[in-house]
Amino acid sequence: MEKLLYLDNAATTKTAPEVLEAMIPYFTECYGNPSSVYGFAAKNKDAITRQRETIAKVLGANANEIYFTAGGSEADNWALKATAEAYQDKGKHIITTKIEHHAILHTGEYLEKKGFEITYLEVDENGMVRLEDLKAAIRPDTILISVMYANNEIGTIEPIKEIGSIAKEHGILFHTDAVQAFGQVPINVDECNIDMLSASGHKLNGPKGIGFLYIRKGVKIRSFVHGGAQERRRRAGTENVPGIIGLGTAVERAVRTMEERTKKEIELRDYLIGRVLEEIPYTKLNGDPKKRLPNNANFSFRFVEGESLLIMLDMKGICASSGSACTSGSLDPSHVLLAIGLPHEIAHGSLRITLNEEFEKEDMDYVVDTLKEIVANLRNMSPLYEDFVKKQK
Ligand SMILES: *Cc1c(COP(=O)(O)O)cnc(C)c1O
Repeated sequence: MEKLLYLDNAATTKTAPEVLEAMIPYFTECYGNPSSVYGFAAKNKDAITRQRETIAKVLGANANEIYFTAGGSEADNWALKATAEAYQDKGKHIITTKIEHHAILHTGEYLEKKGFEITYLEVDENGMVRLEDLKAAIRPDTILISVMYANNEIGTIEPIKEIGSIAKEHGILFHTDAVQAFGQVPINVDECNIDMLSASGHKLNGPKGIGFLYIRKGVKIRSFVHGGAQERRRRAGTENVPGIIGLGTAVERAVRTMEERTKKEIELRDYLIGRVLEEIPYTKLNGDPKKRLPNNANFSFRFVEGESLLIMLDMKGICASSGSACTSGSLDPSHVLLAIGLPHEIAHGSLRITLNEEFEKEDMDYVVDTLKEIVANLRNMSPLYEDFVKKQK
């Protein structure tokens, strides 16, 4: 196996060299606890503030509205649990969607056990939330709407601005899981009336185990971790200084490179999608054809088993996914693919390819040529395909 093509950038990304370089001194030299009084350590407090400012500026927010967390899952948990607790006197109803990440869905299940009622909105065949459905779901006791900015499996970008205005009109808080979208599309929290937003470092060429929750000033939200006074007393624990430096550097890099990077990814993505749909029969593109993340392609190949496809791709040096990393651990097809209406057998034959800007057209050719061969081989072994071909004649 000569080359390795890492086409699973929605699962995680490589830490960019400039990010790693910025982090190293915070392990080796500037290791002081930011809460300490002496200058050697207290400098780290300023370093953290600078990262908070960088991130806030990108979102059109204020630095004191950014709360560092240990990643996207924690930010999602915090947004839902703390809002539920702080606003339960107003009501116990929350609206989200069927295609959220498990960090939202499983937190929703937890809250249901605590007496909250959750509406999980359906989506259309492209994975898009319908605004009429959202409006119809709103009740006097609705306290929170949580809709992801972009889906991690099929790449669909949701109508966040419209959802934000609906939430605002009804005086309901609006949270968005922007873990996949942040760094890939420009986001402004005021334009979209976003009250809370989750993001994660390792999805944008930053380190793992660091992320943040944006919480708009004025939102009543409870502390998530009790202890010291860090993160304005809302999330205790000695700051992950190298992680925060890495996250801030990754955000700065993502914004600086966004235009050029996503332009290239879109070209590669559309070339890949075009060739796959044209050259591999009985194949479907999942997700919105236009409103999708620049680096995401998701296909269903009929008469093919996704797991076998992944294993055979792996043997050819191609890393991809048949859903999200968490989904592939279970036998059920992905909840997202079922929500867009795919029958089980078609959902099982799905493949997610998520690019980065380092690829070239030749790499896409290699992927398509390899896929063509593998899909044909798997179909030749499939009794279902054999039946299908017989019936065609
Ligand atoms: C990866 C991901 C998360 C979880 O983020 P972690 O930092 O890995 O905890 C949450 N939501 C979405 C949409 C994701 O893609």
